[in-house]
Amino acid sequence: MADRKQELEGLREELIERFDRYKAHKEQKGGPLDKDMEDQSIELMNDEVIEALQQETEDELRQVLHALKRIEAGEGEACERCGEPIDGRRLQALPYTTVCLDCAERQ
Ligand SMILES: [Zn+2]
Repeated sequence: MADRKQELEGLREELIERFDRYKAHKEQKGGPLDKDMEDQSIELMNDEVIEALQQETEDELRQVLHALKRIEAGEGEACERCGEPIDGRRLQALPYTTVCLDCAERQ
């Protein structure tokens, strides 16, 4: 599953970038965004929304890092709750998942 790892690594970069963007936006409150960070949709959002998105991004990033760690330990395709293999289609749809469908539904 080298592809999944690659996908997760790409996702990790993307999430870090997004997280930094939200952070930069909060720090530059009221001021203009850097030219290369210019993004109307972000600029128009209020702080509360940014805060929620930043939190969401952080959670997702944590999950991605966790999944990568499991892949590196050779456990990436095993459910971390029951130990059963995670369905390949599920991993394709949700590359950062670390539990099988049954366990996810029981959560
Ligand atoms: Zn399971």
